[in-house]
Amino acid sequence: MEVEKVQNRNNLVNRLTTQPEWDLIVIGGGATGLGIALESVSRGYSVLLVEQADFAKGTSSRSTKLVHGGVRYLAQGDIQLVREASIERGLLWRNAPHLVKNQTFIIPVYNWWDRLKYTIGLKLYDWISGRLSLGSSLFIPRKQALFKLPNIQTEGLVGGVLYHDGQFDDSRLAINLVQTIIEQGGVALNYMKVTGLTKANGQHISGVTMKDVETGRSFTCKAKAVINATGVFVDEVLHMDNPASSKSITASQGVHLVLDKKFYPADDALMIPATSDGRVLFAVPWHGKVVVGTTDTPVSEASLEPQALEKEINFILENAARYFVQQPKRSDVLSVFAGLRPLAAPQKDNQKTKEISRSHKIMVTPSQLFTILGGKWTTFRKMGEDMVDRVEKELQWPHKKTATRHLPIHGSVANVNQNDPLYFYGSDTPQVKALMNGHANQWLSTKLQIHEAQVKWAVQHEMARTVEDVLSRRTRALLLDARESMRMAEPVAIIMAKELQKDESWIKEQVDAYTKLADGYVLKEL
Ligand SMILES: Cc1cc2nc3c(=O)[nH]c(=O)nc-3n(C[C@H](O)[C@H](O)[C@H](O)COP(=O)(O)OP(=O)(O)OC[C@H]3O[C@@H](n4cnc5c(N)ncnc54)[C@H](O)[C@@H]3O)c2cc1C
Repeated sequence: MEVEKVQNRNNLVNRLTTQPEWDLIVIGGGATGLGIALESVSRGYSVLLVEQADFAKGTSSRSTKLVHGGVRYLAQGDIQLVREASIERGLLWRNAPHLVKNQTFIIPVYNWWDRLKYTIGLKLYDWISGRLSLGSSLFIPRKQALFKLPNIQTEGLVGGVLYHDGQFDDSRLAINLVQTIIEQGGVALNYMKVTGLTKANGQHISGVTMKDVETGRSFTCKAKAVINATGVFVDEVLHMDNPASSKSITASQGVHLVLDKKFYPADDALMIPATSDGRVLFAVPWHGKVVVGTTDTPVSEASLEPQALEKEINFILENAARYFVQQPKRSDVLSVFAGLRPLAAPQKDNQKTKEISRSHKIMVTPSQLFTILGGKWTTFRKMGEDMVDRVEKELQWPHKKTATRHLPIHGSVANVNQNDPLYFYGSDTPQVKALMNGHANQWLSTKLQIHEAQVKWAVQHEMARTVEDVLSRRTRALLLDARESMRMAEPVAIIMAKELQKDESWIKEQVDAYTKLADGYVLKEL
């Protein structure tokens, strides 16, 4: 394992000046870009991935944390997407078993028609996944449903339909993907923003110009293919190619609330197929808390820090109250986070965002900018495979077979003990524990079980550059308990400053910036 390579961002930045040309440059360090970079490097291509902020800073750290075939898409009749996602779910479960958990879900049913509908529907869901199914669905009677869902509304309850899907940690997977890409010989850099595209003879795209956000230094890099995998920001890069290009993406916001486990003290996740306005709602156990969401609100502007709207918060609280007997109040919310779905722009003017297909779409402009729209975390590997196939075809390169279907992702190890607070490091867990050596009591948060050693590990091996990187994406403190994470900001900054050789003013800047950001995840009383 060559983790040292990951540690030193400076060494990776130096590669920008020594590599004369890359086969592929991928813009965007979310699920989509990481999938494409992994696919390219594992086929033997030279690849550079650049992310303007931190890896997974955008949508890819703000998902519902499901690796799923998508029961909802089945209801919409999108069998092809469900089949594709179910296969990918099974592959990811095998390739990253330290991060993907086989999670049982229960749909509570309150009438006999729903019992019939969901039992048949979920049998179809099992059948579509074939050999890669995570387990069979079944109807459970009222008594068993009440045992499994202790806080559920009892009035009129007939029973429940239990089924299996995957559950994961999105930003931890992104970090492990970065490590895998680098171990395979690729370069992935955070805080490197693409500012323009270069063209050979003013025609075909020949590379990118970029700016190191940390130092302000500019770079120009050449590439045979440039891929735009910037999620809700794809139109900004398309405009760099052609300022007259039309809108290709529409953004839809989804909000989640994180609550203490006492509001939903079950091991099975809850799935409500049709809430008061027909949307799906999940309550999913995650790192000892419960994540409840989500919403589907069209938004006009792309942002890296989208803010939850009051109506979205109220919608989730009202619906949660309907299914949890103990009703959560605003003051019970530990964190509220919002993310933007990058959806291919609707074909019809009146099409609702929840009706737009979640399958991905690849576009190639006349100057050969490759752009990918839409998709899901679950299908990131297939999106990478499809994009690299398309590049090979368009640029008439000899086709190379995909090598990612059975490629273990960094950290991959079977049978992790999820009761160990450091389980998600997978095969790295013993090394993180070795860093704790002699300092077993130095917990930064006993509540969240986050240790000082994790901060050092994040800087040394996971390219964490800011307090936010550590508290939001290397650990999940920001999403699990925003107030508690604010308390941790200063000690984290002090440890990081030592590792990164930064001074007092850096510590102050970091603490101020983090406190301001985390305040947006705290739900205030009205
Ligand atoms: C609320 C919500 C819940 C979801 N739940 C699930 C789920 O449970 N399961 C599932 O499978 N999917 C889920 N999804 C979908 C999934 O999260 C997204 O499809 C996926 O994360 C999108 O990844 P991306 O890489 O395309 O975009 P992003 O993660 O946004 O990445 C794009 C990146 O490009 C970078 N970038 C932009 N411009 C530049 C530039 N000029 N230079 C360099 N970098 C740049 C941005 O900083 C950003 O980090 C959910 C989505 C939402 C919104």
